[in-house]
Amino acid sequence: MFSDATMSTGRLRRALFGLLPALMLLGTLMSVPAEAESQVPIVFPEHVQQGSMVIGRVPPGSRVTHGGRTLGVTDYGTVVFGIGRDASGASQVGITSPDGQQRTVNIQVTPRDFPIERIDGVPPKTVSPPPEIAERIRREQAGVSQARTRDERIPDFAEHFIWPVKGRISGRFGNQRIYNGTPGSAHSGMDIAAATGTPVKAPAGGIVTFADPDLYLTGGTVLIDHGYGISSNFLHLSKLDVKVGDRVAQGDVIGEVGATGRATGPHLHWGMNWFDTRIDPLLVLERQ
Ligand SMILES: [Zn+2]
Repeated sequence: MFSDATMSTGRLRRALFGLLPALMLLGTLMSVPAEAESQVPIVFPEHVQQGSMVIGRVPPGSRVTHGGRTLGVTDYGTVVFGIGRDASGASQVGITSPDGQQRTVNIQVTPRDFPIERIDGVPPKTVSPPPEIAERIRREQAGVSQARTRDERIPDFAEHFIWPVKGRISGRFGNQRIYNGTPGSAHSGMDIAAATGTPVKAPAGGIVTFADPDLYLTGGTVLIDHGYGISSNFLHLSKLDVKVGDRVAQGDVIGEVGATGRATGPHLHWGMNWFDTRIDPLLVLERQ
């Protein structure tokens, strides 16, 4: 179309000036979509369960805050955050649209029942570790926590998650655990019973941010960042098929089920986080 490379400057100027009224008219018309932009609906669920991943919609370009954080907003105006196991009452989201309008959305958090689970037969040294082991555990957990601080702008969290292995749920998120009679912290993920060597698939795409075959408590450990603070962790693996920095797609094999670390038998522990807030993978699977 613009093959007329020899167009003189004068002709070019005239052509552009000729366009001006049209451009000005376009300018007034374009103010309509700009106003309409603030009319893009803000969409969040009215109520969510403890341990949920919450996905909402805001006008693209909005500034969104939740839980003391400024959330990343995708080009389509999608935001995501997690509701902790012990959250209660109303969870607030602050939204400032590109035109400066401010809104606060209240999401009611529905409480859940978290039963007590007694787990006996755990190796005693993993329940009450000696000081030098406690230091190792602290160091290892710090490395895992560090991997969860990333705020990668990749949209994989919005995928429809799939089960990483098929099997019976042998432990649920949030259950209060008592190891050999000693109260431990709440169960941080879901356990799926499967034989050692069963391939573990990425439930959604992402970037591998942590991979260590031998952590004291969690054994073979892999973390996948699904973007915008949402991550998965896979524990007790007998084999790792990925390394830090790998890009994985949903369904890619990342390792094999095992019983490494503090485990009473082979199973996959799958945990999920929004930054350091633990969320329930089962609710993520059931989200759609
Ligand atoms: Zn577990």
